[in-house]
Amino acid sequence: MTGFGHRGACPTTLVPMRSGDGLLMRLHLAGGVLALPKAQAIALAAQRFGNGQIDLSQRGNLQIRGLSEASFAEIVPFLRANDLIAAAVENGDGAPLREIQTRVLISPLNSLSPELVALAPLAHALEQQLHLAPRQRPLSPKFSIIIEDGGPLNLAHIDADLRFIALPGEAPLKFAGYFDGVAAPVCIIPAHDLVPTALSMLDAFLASRRADGQAPARMREVSGHMAPLWRASHPQDWDAAQLPSPQPHDPADLIGAFRPDAFGLGLPFGRIHAQSLLQLHAAASAIQAKALYLTPWRVLVVPLTRKEDAIALKAALSGESFIFERRDPRLKLTACVGAPACTSALQPTARDAETIANALSTHWPEHSMQLHISGCPKGCAHPKAAPFTLVAQASGYGLILNGRATDAPQASFKSLESAIHGIASKLNGDAPFV
Ligand code: SF4
Repeated sequence: MTGFGHRGACPTTLVPMRSGDGLLMRLHLAGGVLALPKAQAIALAAQRFGNGQIDLSQRGNLQIRGLSEASFAEIVPFLRANDLIAAAVENGDGAPLREIQTRVLISPLNSLSPELVALAPLAHALEQQLHLAPRQRPLSPKFSIIIEDGGPLNLAHIDADLRFIALPGEAPLKFAGYFDGVAAPVCIIPAHDLVPTALSMLDAFLASRRADGQAPARMREVSGHMAPLWRASHPQDWDAAQLPSPQPHDPADLIGAFRPDAFGLGLPFGRIHAQSLLQLHAAASAIQAKALYLTPWRVLVVPLTRKEDAIALKAALSGESFIFERRDPRLKLTACVGAPACTSALQPTARDAETIANALSTHWPEHSMQLHISGCPKGCAHPKAAPFTLVAQASGYGLILNGRATDAPQASFKSLESAIHGIASKLNGDAPFV
């Protein structure tokens, strides 16, 4: 281990981050597939070494919370013995092994969808090149790449510096390549060119400069002027109007038996207790499932082989705190962990989110996430705009309509109750507060 991550860095397995409830460790699980023995090992690790709380992040990673420095020293060999630390990179100079930080996110459930292009080999080849090949300068730990299979589960709600989307009906298979911040693709490439193209894009990004002459940290800072240059040097014959423009999914779309071979379990506000994960492990084992699938919608998916598996799974987990129903009002909200687990939080957002979900359960429009509640303006749980965003203040909450947590609030409420009343008025079309 090299120490603890500072605020603003991304925690990893070997470099956890300090939080209000102890050290926070993020596990990188390639392809979002969690073999059942690993799920059990994570639950046991969280129970034995942490405070039992596990997060499913908005990018589909698992986080173990509440470690102490002493228990951190013990959890690392436990995770290593259970093959839960991403393969390390040899420095070749006798220095300690470096942990590989996964940067490539692929479509969840891709490996459950044999009719679509298999993305795991492409992602693995790209990860290897990213970590092994020398680059001009280090990449920001937040720099990320998404590869989508063009199937129904698009990742339009997640930002990525580079994105590749498989094009339906193209033979041989092709991908559209995108820079973050630019709506139209910058290239259309055959599948076998994806890895070299991604590396060329990366090198072009690393050689680029912002208008002020500084090196950019993220693609969005330079994509506006890079995109035309890239297109000019990679001329292609395509009609941008023919390309798909996916709309973000509602998490409710993945709850229950949303397809014949898969059952989705919502995690309230992205959290699961180790005991519930152990119960899920037992229930999934009983129906002979081999793995759990992690999704960036705070939903865990269990593959099914028989029609009756869904009923058996639901019955076995009925006492656990999963979301089983698509109309569950908690699916309308997203919340960060809040106080006291995060030292930046000014209010207990996770607890308040439960209160809001219950109070406004009949008010929300039918579809999509409606309200983001954030303990501070950083907005970790949902960096994008939401119809309603509540940002904690020293007393009460500020409310932002159709904006992000970083935006200036349009109204302030001194208490949670008054904030709920204000939102209800807005949803009912009563007297406006702004
Ligand atoms: S958004 Fe929430 S979790 Fe993130 S730093 Fe602020 S209070 Fe902490």
